[in-house]
Amino acid sequence: MNGNFYEIQKSDRSYIALKKMSDAGFVCGFSRRSGGASRGKIEGFNFGFRVGDDPESVLKNYRLLADDLGFDLSRAVCARQTHTSNIRIVTSADCGKGIFQVDSDIRDIDGLITNEKGIALIIFTADCVPLLFCDPVKGVAAASHAGWRGTAQNIGGKTVRLMAEKFGSDPRNIIAAIGPSIGLCCFEVDRGTAENFAEKYRIPKPNDKFHVDLWAANRDMIAAEGVPAENIYISEECTICNSDKYYSYRTHKEHTGRQIAVIAIK
Ligand SMILES: [Zn+2]
Repeated sequence: MNGNFYEIQKSDRSYIALKKMSDAGFVCGFSRRSGGASRGKIEGFNFGFRVGDDPESVLKNYRLLADDLGFDLSRAVCARQTHTSNIRIVTSADCGKGIFQVDSDIRDIDGLITNEKGIALIIFTADCVPLLFCDPVKGVAAASHAGWRGTAQNIGGKTVRLMAEKFGSDPRNIIAAIGPSIGLCCFEVDRGTAENFAEKYRIPKPNDKFHVDLWAANRDMIAAEGVPAENIYISEECTICNSDKYYSYRTHKEHTGRQIAVIAIK
């Protein structure tokens, strides 16, 4: 784990968070698998309602999460993610969507932004790259889901642009955290997928395969929007190398729960 991040341990559950983001007045964290109420093949701290888990267990996990990190669960919002680069501005009218109303109108959305205090933006991952953003000056928070498709569509850069357009954020004030996800070490794809990325992000492997660096690609696209390089932090935890600590789609296949990334303005 990169030294700018720190671990939060609550009973048998643990999270990592970016110190600079917490210090700037934001509730933030990336969950790990341990602890939690889910049982069976996806045992642990699962937040996906659509992965075969008991909905009561999932809800219990959300309650534990909100208590652990200190936000009001009734004001949390999750999207139905579908590997797009669509981003939604979230207001009080959206609170509870994706958790208390599992089927909400926030679908085909992979990024959430708000400037309202106390609204907790939550995105799910299991190898895909979770991105958290905050602007302490204008008081804006954002969370985005960047799998390879979202990364190729520059959802990170689009999130920064929308923070600027809608809420007047100066990119120079934005802090970004790139959370636990599949690393260059483990993200092996075929040529067709690799060619969505510039050559500097891919390493050729035998049998016409490539390893792709989604962390660097996201970092550079966020920086290209004007966020200073020193404000962009990569947690450097690969979910496959650490599949004992995280749900990993590539490792656990269909028996995969979802971890979350969350951010809220205090
Ligand atoms: Zn790895």
